[in-house]
Amino acid sequence: MAKSFASRTYRDDAVVLRTHKLGEADRILVLLTREHGQVRAVAKGVRRTSSKFGARLEPFMVAELLLSHGRNLDIVTQAQTKGAYGHGIAADYARYTAAAAIAETAERLTDIDGDSAKAQYQLVIGAFAALSRGAHAPELILDSYLLRALATAGWAPSFTDCARCGAPGPHSAFSAPLGGAVCPACRPPGSASPSPETMALLAALLTGDWAAADESGPQPRHESAGLVAGYLQWHLERVLRSLQHVERV
Ligand SMILES: [Zn+2]
Repeated sequence: MAKSFASRTYRDDAVVLRTHKLGEADRILVLLTREHGQVRAVAKGVRRTSSKFGARLEPFMVAELLLSHGRNLDIVTQAQTKGAYGHGIAADYARYTAAAAIAETAERLTDIDGDSAKAQYQLVIGAFAALSRGAHAPELILDSYLLRALATAGWAPSFTDCARCGAPGPHSAFSAPLGGAVCPACRPPGSASPSPETMALLAALLTGDWAAADESGPQPRHESAGLVAGYLQWHLERVLRSLQHVERV
């Protein structure tokens, strides 16, 4: 009896990436768990004011959960708050939009690559904690998260040495398909030409050099945000194309 109960339930820490309504009072949660990767679960009665879960299962919250395996979706039976980041994030629009972009990226990356889910979990909760306490500018926390999440997924960019031939940098051209900074010999036509300050900021965001990142000016921040978004989009679209190809075969 005890054994069968144990096999149907499991305990794990999870961050809530996204929620949507189900029926009158329930909610479906898209969770990134520490040990079980991405999980979709139902929180029953969570939208009632009397819910035992309270605000513990709102987006960006980290909680220790007891889940039971369901036929289609798992079911949350207990939740204890571990990181109440939702309130500090929702209080500021820039923090909220950065957190939403982080959650969306984490959902996509852990959907296509379950192997790195544990490392992705740590990156997400680190970013949400930093956003919640206003540790750095929200757009810098977002871009640092995106670069590190992409590196964790196997797409580490280079911002100093040439990403193609390894020629020592710094270089003045950037190519998302080739993996970042490229030397004059490798540079494909149409490569971006970011400023040296932007390349330095990108390197600081990837390595977590916050002293350097916090001192950056508006121009490199703006330019690096565009390059990071392009780098992310290029890799995600390439994965989607390869998945479509697999399905056709
Ligand atoms: Zn090169």
